[in-house]
Amino acid sequence: MSGATVATLVMAAGRGQRLGGEEPKQYRMLGALSVLARSLALFADHPRIGRVLAVIHDDDRDLYATATATLGLAPPVPGGPTRQDSVRLGLEHLSGNPPDLVLIHDAARPLTPPAVIGRVIDELASSVGAVPALPVADTLKQGADGRILATVPRAGLFRAQTPQGFRFDAILDAHRRFAGADLTDDAAVAEAAGLDVALVPGDEAAFKITTADDLDRARRLCAETRVGTGFDVHRFGMGDHVWLCGIRVPHDRGLIGHSDADVGLHALTDAILGAIGAGDIGQHFPPGDPRWKGAASSGFLRHAADLLDKRGGRVIHVDLTLIGERPKVGPHREAMRASIASILAVGIDRVSVKATTTEGLGFAGRGEGIAAQATATVVL
Ligand code: MG
Repeated sequence: MSGATVATLVMAAGRGQRLGGEEPKQYRMLGALSVLARSLALFADHPRIGRVLAVIHDDDRDLYATATATLGLAPPVPGGPTRQDSVRLGLEHLSGNPPDLVLIHDAARPLTPPAVIGRVIDELASSVGAVPALPVADTLKQGADGRILATVPRAGLFRAQTPQGFRFDAILDAHRRFAGADLTDDAAVAEAAGLDVALVPGDEAAFKITTADDLDRARRLCAETRVGTGFDVHRFGMGDHVWLCGIRVPHDRGLIGHSDADVGLHALTDAILGAIGAGDIGQHFPPGDPRWKGAASSGFLRHAADLLDKRGGRVIHVDLTLIGERPKVGPHREAMRASIASILAVGIDRVSVKATTTEGLGFAGRGEGIAAQATATVVL
């Protein structure tokens, strides 16, 4: 069916109570995106799929708007009391401008590989329905009251996943005929209507997030490592100390700046902001703003770390190089590492502080100021 139009319904109307927590599981975050946004993006980004429509619970309109603001999708359809009702309502909505094929996907399977989607669409060239599935590998036991009653032969048993794909007219008709039958997936609705549904290979990555353990597993699988860099310079002026990495270092000059001029913490702050694409320190703390006059730069770094935290990220490692002739960093290095580790709430083994001169060359070599460069490695 090359050239067939393909629409997708992403089912997100469930309450997901097994996971606990206040929000339905489809709105929990997986890194920078919610579970639902990831599921929608799987299809919105797929080259063979036209329309993508979410079916949501009416109570979740605000959550939905927040979760999908960047995706530019059509407005969602309100679901019904059961999953089966919700699918039917989604199909009815599509029927005004019916596609040739429809894929029906659980929002709680956000890591489904695009290849699975492709296999389902391919199979619909020759089948009315196609379901991705994996053979059951574990031995199955029937039990009651904590005792085994019997071993169930597993030959020929499969675990059904989604997206389940169908010729649109056939599945709409099946859902209309078997409305209220309390069937747990769309293949079961198709089977009830006597449609022939094919099995195509599923993928373990298409697992359904049901429990808190599943959510942890999904988070591990989509963890993303990023590296940001920062650079800063401050000029020497009058004074009897400098602030470096949150440590007051006695010196015969001071560093000039609107804040405490802690060049090391400024470079680190920019490195963390860089890793999450959150602009630079000047955007967050404009130098002309009287609130930051004389401010301790630990607050700037803490702010960047909080932004990282809000995106579900954490610092893996930071590496800072202070560039200048004086003051000597060596005697203060361990205190500087401890200070940064404390601000970032990470172990000291995740913090590196180095120093170098420029062999007397340039502004740093002439003792006009201190430069600092930093990298931050974070996982989101
Ligand atoms: Mg600065």
